Amino acid sequence: MSTQSSVSMDTLVSLCKRRGIVFPNSEIYGGFGSTWDYGPLGVELKNNIKRAWWRDMVWARPDVVGLDGAILSAPDVWQVSGHVEHFTDALVECRSCHRRFKADELGTNCPHCGASDFTDTRQFNTMFKTFVGPVEDDASVAYLRPETCQMIYLNFRNVQLAARMKLPFGIAQIGKAFRNEITPGNFIFRTREFEQMELEYFVKPDTAAEWFDRWVEERLAWYVRYGIPPDLLERYEVPDDERAHYSLRTVDIKFRYPFGLEELEGIANRGDYDLRQHAAASGKELDYFDDQSQEHLIPHIVEPSVGVERPLLAFLVAAYAEEVDARGNKRVVLRLHPQLAPVKAAVFPLVRRDAGLVALAQEIYATLGPEFPTIYDESAAVGRRYRRQDEIGTPWCITVDRQSLEDRTVTVRERDSMTQERQPVDELLPELQRRLREPWAPPER
Ligand code: ATP
Repeated sequence: MSTQSSVSMDTLVSLCKRRGIVFPNSEIYGGFGSTWDYGPLGVELKNNIKRAWWRDMVWARPDVVGLDGAILSAPDVWQVSGHVEHFTDALVECRSCHRRFKADELGTNCPHCGASDFTDTRQFNTMFKTFVGPVEDDASVAYLRPETCQMIYLNFRNVQLAARMKLPFGIAQIGKAFRNEITPGNFIFRTREFEQMELEYFVKPDTAAEWFDRWVEERLAWYVRYGIPPDLLERYEVPDDERAHYSLRTVDIKFRYPFGLEELEGIANRGDYDLRQHAAASGKELDYFDDQSQEHLIPHIVEPSVGVERPLLAFLVAAYAEEVDARGNKRVVLRLHPQLAPVKAAVFPLVRRDAGLVALAQEIYATLGPEFPTIYDESAAVGRRYRRQDEIGTPWCITVDRQSLEDRTVTVRERDSMTQERQPVDELLPELQRRLREPWAPPER
């Protein structure tokens, strides 16, 4: 068997469209600049990534609790956080074709028309502004949040007191964020609307450096646990002049996308910047009383922050493979971690015209369907049906054949090894649930 596992963006984008993972937004109107909608499989994949993150970052850890803050908030938040002043990109315009670019991504010539005549750079704030209420004046300006974490800082005391948390502890949040990016692109990699998964981990100041290193390791291990080969990941120490205004230290986890080595996740040591700023501006206390030392202190914050879309793309890139067996048969397979796979099982009656097989296959579907996404497919030869499932990463295909009607067993075919085993129908659900919980590693590449 030969395996080809490096995939082009064109191949992935077309697979995503054809199989209902990602569609271009507003497509019938010609699209809407780098905005995407997630189809039947995309919404499952996204939810699975969020669930895996939430389970590992919140449920599995006694030291972390969750929050779901609002997208809109008092404009003071963004003034005080420094975003109104600093959340900017340096923008230049080509005088010849009038396209705009981020200054730091530009060489000497315009990537569009080749001219080398640019305007001076100007700072462009990438927060989306809107107006709250019917009057569009300065007093009613509000911003769509460009990061989710500010709501965590504002609720720091509320959460700490309500959930009786003691340092070190974390507050996690998943939600939409918006940035008016000058140059969105590379499919879902850089968009203006995206989802973030952020953990704000509050620690005693003298332990921040150590916690920072621990979180970098944790987060790298998380990607490997869900099937990303370590050689596709790299850590990048962000130099002083590239760091966000609030950060004392940042390490990016980069991933080898088909378009290059790019940021997947950022881990920042935000020090006490945010809590101190908000406490000073609001006049409200945002500190922590330490029982042991009987002192008030302002915790420092270590923040692993990642979108949902960049890991989604990374998981697809890592999972995609084209295989050719000894007889020259080709298959495309997405070797996704079973917990991430959008569909867990597919159920096939071997032949469509056999009412007995169809009835048993539908009975199995009725058992599995409410527990996890399951597909029922009775069309085409069974080999074709397997390939359809391989291409979307379904880990298990269940085929109902004549023997099933005699002994209530079915074949369960496993995606990676393509081996088939007979299993009793009545044990399918617990068996697949057990397999879903097992650790998984991608087959050797
Ligand atoms: P970049 O340098 O690529 O613009 P950033 O350093 O500004 O990213 P952060 O502010 O650290 O990004 O945001 C944390 C995470 O949020 C990023 O690692 C990424 O996963 C995600 N993210 C940020 N901006 C976008 C975007 N425009 N589209 C998709 N995901 C994004």
